[in-house]
Amino acid sequence: MTQPRTTQLLEGKKSAAAIRDEAAAMVQRLRAAGVVPSLALVLATADESAAWYTRAIARAGDKVGIDVRVERLADDASAATVRAALQRLSADDTVHGIILQMPLPPGVDGVELATAIAPEKDVDGANPVSLGRLTAGLPAFAPATAAAVLRILDDHGVELAGRRAVVVGRSLVVGKPAAMLLLARDATVTVCHSRTRDLKHHVKDAEILVVAAGHPGLITGSMLRRGAVVVDVGINVVDDKLVGDVDFESARRVASAITPVPGGVGPLTNALLLAHLARAAQAQADAEPGAAVPSRTRASVGSANQPLTRGAT
Ligand code: NAD
Repeated sequence: MTQPRTTQLLEGKKSAAAIRDEAAAMVQRLRAAGVVPSLALVLATADESAAWYTRAIARAGDKVGIDVRVERLADDASAATVRAALQRLSADDTVHGIILQMPLPPGVDGVELATAIAPEKDVDGANPVSLGRLTAGLPAFAPATAAAVLRILDDHGVELAGRRAVVVGRSLVVGKPAAMLLLARDATVTVCHSRTRDLKHHVKDAEILVVAAGHPGLITGSMLRRGAVVVDVGINVVDDKLVGDVDFESARRVASAITPVPGGVGPLTNALLLAHLARAAQAQADAEPGAAVPSRTRASVGSANQPLTRGAT
């Protein structure tokens, strides 16, 4: 078999920088109008990777002028306590976005609790209402990782309409919303999961393959259709190194384009979260009766009100 002449590397860093710049400009205009864009992270765990993620978001927010508050609850907080915090933050006019950090205390159902996040503040698309709205083609924030999948494809000019897309993974944070976003862009979408029979058969059919399974090496080059575009969402630590779900070396010999791990989808995820927060703050400021938002700022509200299933996310 012949190799494709070149395999395009779908890197996320440049796009992430552009998204952060756009978010920073929006935040600056909001601050000038007296609105301090603010993100609340609700944390009820001592988990080290959750703490690491929280610090990373706080640092990234700080760089673009977003105020990140951490609502630290007890590691054994009850569902009622977490729900009360989400409801309080949803009603707080000074908070524009809310993230419920995983994991939650044992026995506490995150999906059920996320229904307490006001949809207009659901910047990481955790409330099932957001997924429902996305599915119906209505404006809503997609989970940042799923939005990142679409953004990386768009920024590299990958045509989606009419093409066969296969998503491996059906989680609420990645697989399902990514599938819905691809469908909204007129791809023909198949969703595979842990109970799928003959994964190879489906993967071989994919012109666009999105993998979010959390299993290093699940997809190898021999499974791919020649010329496939591969987006590897997986983040796994193997021998102290970050690797995706796709065996990069064998896959790059068959794919026409592939995301590296690290450096592909990952960098876009946090940048998009900040962009979602800026847009949420903009939309909420604009919805205030008699909002003192200058017309220059108001002009950008158009982008805050665009259906979020398209382009910008
Ligand atoms: P998850 O465990 O919630 O879901 C995994 C999904 O993969 C499930 O739907 C399951 O059915 C499916 N699956 C598991 N084994 C499979 C198999 N052998 N064949 C087919 N399907 C299989 O995980 P998640 O939260 O969706 O995350 C998936 C991966 O993406 C993880 O590696 C995670 O670290 C990574 N992730 C990356 C980012 C990012 O910013 N890049 C963000 C979130 C998650």
